[in-house]
Amino acid sequence: MRLVFIGPPGAGKGTQSERLIEYLNIPHLSTGDMLRDAVKRQTPVGQLAEKYMSSGQLVPDPIIVKVVGERLSQADCEKGCLFDGFPRTIGQARALDDFLEQLGTPLDAVLELQVPDDLLFARLAGRGRADDRPEVIRQRLQSYYQQTQPLLDYYEKRGILRPIDGTGTPEEVFERIKQVIDEIRARKSDKP
Ligand code: ADP
Repeated sequence: MRLVFIGPPGAGKGTQSERLIEYLNIPHLSTGDMLRDAVKRQTPVGQLAEKYMSSGQLVPDPIIVKVVGERLSQADCEKGCLFDGFPRTIGQARALDDFLEQLGTPLDAVLELQVPDDLLFARLAGRGRADDRPEVIRQRLQSYYQQTQPLLDYYEKRGILRPIDGTGTPEEVFERIKQVIDEIRARKSDKP
């Protein structure tokens, strides 16, 4: 199964991704994690990405597309994968469509985790990651609403967008996700 997880920073994608990859036994492709790792190791990609990340801005598409393309060509992605934090722009979404078309494995669904702003702020403020300072949080939320939200339209038109209520306990949220996943699975196995 090939899934995209979309939601504002602090929506709980990280927590839910962990559960979902275990449930489906597929690799987790988090561009945030890949970039943080590249920054830590100070690779060329890491050196380029660092200044964008520390100010809450999106890293330019060509860098991201290269990183994801390389990861997707690894063997463990054959059985499917969960994209987390990618795509974040229409350009990235088109690049992903091209990759997956070449591989003959289109996306099955885009899960949109919905959480109101005031709850996002409260969750992020309590987390303490380097880019979780209030002014950087505001910039990340703004990047989300300006650049990532248009993706919802893009996937809605394709009929694969599945909104999920992201409020409540992690268990409650995961139950909602599981319902959607099980429905998609049932539909897939109906196909000849
Ligand atoms: P969050 O969703 O909580 O903001 P992520 O770990 O997904 O956290 O991303 C952290 C930062 O990494 C982003 O603010 C951005 O600078 C960069 N980043 C991650 N994924 C992408 C992407 N697909 N496109 C551009 N920048 C990205």
